[in-house]
Amino acid sequence: MRIAVLSDIHANLVALDAVLGAVGTVDGIWHLGDVVGYGPEPDAVVARLDSIHARGVRGNHDAAALGGSEIDSFNPDARAAAEWTRDRIEEPTQAWLRALPETLVSDDSVLVHGSLRDPIWEYVTNTAVARASLRLLADAGAHIGLHGHTHVPIAFRDDDGRVEVIAPADGSNLRLDERRVLLNPGSVGQPRDGDPTSSWLELDTEQRTVTWRRVPYDVAAVQDAVRARRLPDRLADRLAFGL
Ligand code: ZN
Repeated sequence: MRIAVLSDIHANLVALDAVLGAVGTVDGIWHLGDVVGYGPEPDAVVARLDSIHARGVRGNHDAAALGGSEIDSFNPDARAAAEWTRDRIEEPTQAWLRALPETLVSDDSVLVHGSLRDPIWEYVTNTAVARASLRLLADAGAHIGLHGHTHVPIAFRDDDGRVEVIAPADGSNLRLDERRVLLNPGSVGQPRDGDPTSSWLELDTEQRTVTWRRVPYDVAAVQDAVRARRLPDRLADRLAFGL
């Protein structure tokens, strides 16, 4: 099976459609949460994911959009956008978000937004944090942990107890073997690795490979939409820098 793994779409429909166009025909679309928040088109993004039967998990911004106390930990820009999202999203969007589990297991893969230890909140940014999730992956009897939340494409691989960090570029691929690995596809809707193009991951479960991919989208159009909805200016500005 060829699966496209998307994370942190953040209500950016233009970016999502650019990615889906580049993905082409696959056997499945998986998402790793933060479908909404920050961006201008939450209802349309959820409708698109629903129409293509995407399967995935809940992120902190999705929980906040449903009225969760997660909003209390947000910075002022994220909070303003979350409040706007709460007020705006329609019932079918709420129902779709509410149905997202915190963790999803599919064959040899475990899907979470943050980490296996704390699916909603924990940022896997270093080997010490990665090690805890790799251990839980072993407990689950799975080899592939898929997570987002940091908006930075990266992999952490358990090499006999030593955690190896792999920083992928566009087109980088990794052969999957018996070593357990955490894979972060980066962000579709708000990249933060200094590259403004949308990032995602292709997982081929038969070839046992993963490939990181990038695609540009019309950033200016999304910035206009952010400003037209009077979301914080900084949320428009940052899209141009990928930060
Ligand atoms: Zn996010």
